[in-house]
Amino acid sequence: MYDLIVIGAGPGGYVCAIRAAQLGLKVACVEGRETLGGTCLNVGCIPSKALLHASHMLHETHENFEKMGLMGAHVEVDWSKMQDYKQDTVNSNTGGIEFLFKKNKVDWIKGWASIEAPGKVKVGDTVHEAKNIVVASGSVPSALKGLEIDNEKGVIVDSTGALALPKIPKSMVVIGAGVIGLELGSVYRRLGAEVTVVEYLDVITPGMDAEVQKQLQKTLTKQGLKFVLGAAVQGATASDDGATVSYQLKKDGSEQQIEAEVVLVSTGRRPYADGLGLDALGVEMTDRGYIKVDGHWATSVKGVYAIGDAVPGPMLAHKAEDEGMAVAEVIAGKHGHVNYDVIPSVIYTTPEVASVGLTEAAAKEGGRKVKVGKFPFMGNARAKAQFLGEGFVKLIADAETDRILGCHIIGPSAGDLIHEVCVAMEFGASAEDLALTCHAHPTVSEAVREAALACGSGAIHA
Ligand SMILES: Cc1cc2nc3c(=O)[nH]c(=O)nc-3n(C[C@H](O)[C@H](O)[C@H](O)COP(=O)(O)OP(=O)(O)OC[C@H]3O[C@@H](n4cnc5c(N)ncnc54)[C@H](O)[C@@H]3O)c2cc1C
Repeated sequence: MYDLIVIGAGPGGYVCAIRAAQLGLKVACVEGRETLGGTCLNVGCIPSKALLHASHMLHETHENFEKMGLMGAHVEVDWSKMQDYKQDTVNSNTGGIEFLFKKNKVDWIKGWASIEAPGKVKVGDTVHEAKNIVVASGSVPSALKGLEIDNEKGVIVDSTGALALPKIPKSMVVIGAGVIGLELGSVYRRLGAEVTVVEYLDVITPGMDAEVQKQLQKTLTKQGLKFVLGAAVQGATASDDGATVSYQLKKDGSEQQIEAEVVLVSTGRRPYADGLGLDALGVEMTDRGYIKVDGHWATSVKGVYAIGDAVPGPMLAHKAEDEGMAVAEVIAGKHGHVNYDVIPSVIYTTPEVASVGLTEAAAKEGGRKVKVGKFPFMGNARAKAQFLGEGFVKLIADAETDRILGCHIIGPSAGDLIHEVCVAMEFGASAEDLALTCHAHPTVSEAVREAALACGSGAIHA
């Protein structure tokens, strides 16, 4: 009898299993894939970041090396080697989780699980017993009506197919201007493809700060990505050498078509709980297919918990990890907690985009009086030396108390810079607290301090 069986070994599930074992529980984790790590390590965060890194290096050699006096032969791309590098990165990470399972004495039960009854998890013909079950079954790409995904054929693909195309296409249509579409679109643009992003809304990256949206679209356009916004995709037909996407422009109702060698459908992901038997068990779901949980990640069935992409909230690896740790603590009789107001989100384009907390618009809609401190990376010496002077830090603070409410960054290392603001927010810091903190020179982090100074008596370098 286990204290806990976790179903799914993505960042939610494997982190939960490790933390529970560290807290002294007897733990098993069931995973149906061949390798541990879930979407994130196998077909999500990690392989996409490997391709973003490699293609960014290529971009640097073409765009900036000569400017720095680095001369030499033109760098060529060996796509198959780049795929090997991506796969090696994935393998070393998934293997790392296997090592951590052994180190922490977490049993990996290989196969697909279903829950027969509370406390009974069936894998193959064997029923394993546990006092508690955590469902961390994650998510899968959501379908778009009129488009048939065929990752094998490699013409109309989802993100999983786009990470492993047989060759670099000459042209690509990306449907959906969200994080995944823009990241993978950037990869193929840097590798030479003509990339057009078709988006239903009139803006890219819905939900982000409006000024960041505008700046990101401007910068990506300079990098050669094309955008068709306000366009409702009707369908796509694949042929031997590509596909034709039909869409209707919302502003005038006109029907349009665009052809490309590859079409990437990146219109979002849906929670995945197929085959688990949750219906029969009586687990309540939301009307959008997520598993309903309370403030302690308990489902409507006693002893069954759920976390990560399978439950409501942002579909992010670190949100799943935090819930994994917290629910392990709850099951071990401690006080697990996740602060949903301070969950950063990052887009790994160049420049990176990162945000946490309220946008200026959301704060105002909520009736708050805010002050905004903005600082452009053009005033940051280190950013300029790296040809990354585009973009800014925008800090939102309460007008009366000076408490930091949110931060939105587009610029170099934004995904790392955001965390000093996260820590500050966790401590309930004011903009002045950040402004009074000495930041090393020359670092791009000085831009965050300058934005905090701009909330008070003014930035120095702007
Ligand atoms: C291309 C791409 C890029 C991304 N980049 C980022 C990023 O940069 N940063 C970020 O934060 N997030 C990113 N994400 C999102 C991130 O991958 C997910 O939010 C995260 O993986 C969710 O973790 P999870 O543990 O909830 O589920 P998952 O990672 O989806 O893992 C669930 C696991 O459960 C297993 N499973 C399901 N049902 C069963 C069953 N019945 N029996 C056994 N096993 C089962 C599945 O096989 C899977 O391995 C990206 C996603 C994609 C697709």
